[in-house]
Amino acid sequence: MIILTVDKAKDWMKEIQKRMFDHKDQLTELDQAIGDGDHGINMARGFHEVVAKVNHTSYDSAADVLKSAAMTLMAKVGGASGPLYGTAFLKMSLAMQGKEVDQKVFKQAINDAVEGLQARGKADFGEKTMYDVWKQVANFLQEEDVQDWHGILEVCQATIEDTREMAATKGRASYLKERSKGHVDPGSMSSFYIFEALAEVIDL
Ligand code: ADP
Ligand code: MG
Ligand code: MG
Repeated sequence: MIILTVDKAKDWMKEIQKRMFDHKDQLTELDQAIGDGDHGINMARGFHEVVAKVNHTSYDSAADVLKSAAMTLMAKVGGASGPLYGTAFLKMSLAMQGKEVDQKVFKQAINDAVEGLQARGKADFGEKTMYDVWKQVANFLQEEDVQDWHGILEVCQATIEDTREMAATKGRASYLKERSKGHVDPGSMSSFYIFEALAEVIDL
């Protein structure tokens, strides 16, 4: 069964944009605590640009929508998160290229996104970054016969909470070392909104 079409890929971007807009202040506050306080702005503006782009372009495949999103994020988001999310969407796009996106292709796409994030950001699991959430989602998809989004979103939320007691060793938060403890990672939170938006749009 095809789970991601051109229209659904566009809707995914719109649902992400809505969430980044609605939670802009929350993401900014999280980044104020352990970073430079721009994550909400980066995400709201970045996905606003993505939606403006995909709304005015016609695409032959879901892969092409994601590629367009990736390029826009890389070009328009100044912070670390722009190139990182850009890489994640680009790797997903490459995994989907020329294929009908069924659950198997989709799982591979998530795996490739996770590898891309690691290659780009050099973060390992447990370093208090968005990588933690993506890695746990990939693990969950690998291990479980997934029927719906419930378990995936629970894994995301548990992982966000796990980042709270970690000391950051990558990104700006790593400047604070032990003092980064006690705050959840902003990029983990925005990654949750990306998966929550996906759950809104596609049936597994
Ligand atoms: P910046 O830190 O440049 O201001 P943002 O505030 O938009 O960029 O994004 C910060 C988020 O990016 C962090 O919360 C973290 O999840 C993620 N991040 C930062 N550096 C890395 C890295 N090297 N690998 C993975 N994720 C990272
Ligand atoms: Mg920041
Ligand atoms: Mg910044």
